[in-house]
Amino acid sequence: MSTNGHKNRSGAILTVDLDAVRANYRLLRARAAPAACSAVLKSDAYGLGAVPVAAALYAEGCRHFFVAHLDEGIALRPHVPADAAIFVLHGPPLGTEADFTDHQLTPVLNSTQQVAGWRAHARALGRTLAAVIQVDSGMSRMGMAPAEIDAWLADPHFLDGIDMQYLMSHLACAEQPDNPMNALQLERFKAIRARLPACPASFANSSGVFLPADYHFDLVRPGAALYGIAPIAGAANPMRPVVRLQGKVLQTRTIEPGEHVGYSRRYTASETRQVATVAVGYADGWLRSMSNIGVAIVDGVRVPQIGAISMDSITLDVSAIPSERVEAGSLVDLICAEHPVDAVASLANTIGYEVLSNLGRRYYREYTGA
Ligand SMILES: *Cc1c(COP(=O)(O)O)cnc(C)c1O
Repeated sequence: MSTNGHKNRSGAILTVDLDAVRANYRLLRARAAPAACSAVLKSDAYGLGAVPVAAALYAEGCRHFFVAHLDEGIALRPHVPADAAIFVLHGPPLGTEADFTDHQLTPVLNSTQQVAGWRAHARALGRTLAAVIQVDSGMSRMGMAPAEIDAWLADPHFLDGIDMQYLMSHLACAEQPDNPMNALQLERFKAIRARLPACPASFANSSGVFLPADYHFDLVRPGAALYGIAPIAGAANPMRPVVRLQGKVLQTRTIEPGEHVGYSRRYTASETRQVATVAVGYADGWLRSMSNIGVAIVDGVRVPQIGAISMDSITLDVSAIPSERVEAGSLVDLICAEHPVDAVASLANTIGYEVLSNLGRRYYREYTGA
């Protein structure tokens, strides 16, 4: 299956292995069992394509999907059968409650104000409406604060018309298993739950699935690990790689000692060099912070990216590669099993999440498997 663009015309080919996504889902689900396993598809499934990823995971048995924005939920709903829930992490922007019921979306309610809006909508419709309620267990980002929880407990009508399907919270440091923040958040979440009406709970992201079973509760919410990102800092990655990015060589040239490459002359050749220009640049999410430090894999050989990264191209030192193996039209690997997303991210001084979610809109996309 392929989507936008034209393979011959495009400057790069992004291949998403849906069988690997499914295998990663099975691994996460097995680790989290008996908890159910959802899939987080926000930001177009971290740049990989929410629609094909959702279809593959639905076929694998996934029935709980999370997006961040209401519009992401509206776009996804026609592609996901009605027996699967779509939860919207940001909840309803003020006055958009009817969009949720019109599109069979379930909000995550993050504040007293969002709960009040949902309660009023339930009253107006004359029926009970499902919701997830998020509480803040220490990340100080989303969810009801301690004072809001106190006010909730003092108001017997707080949840009138609301069917609380899950109480949820989110871990700040789960990729570091020894970080004391994990246990602190777990204790806080348990203490909050003990004060509230009984209901299923959701707590763990990808990394949380690899924490002990008492972090799993009833529904885990992995995103990154589904897409091949390593869930545990500094440990071997148990996930299968999902993404391959191949850039296309536009042209090659020989440069002599003392010649420069690219904007601001950030690379100077100390000896004769073969340079290949590849049609992927920072406008395609190939982060400019990798200027002079990125790498590509050509014929199994790591070659250095030299000079500043341009908007639409990068330049590689391909002197180590026989010239007939790298010429206009040749494909070079920028992300692949030998140089996975996390390795690219560490060169760019960022995390795999940022590399994936920035993947370019100009790539020809191909989906294999599933
Ligand atoms: C993004 C997100 C997740 C998924 O996190 P990963 O680290 O990608 O597994 C889960 N829950 C919430 C609230 C999120 O924002």
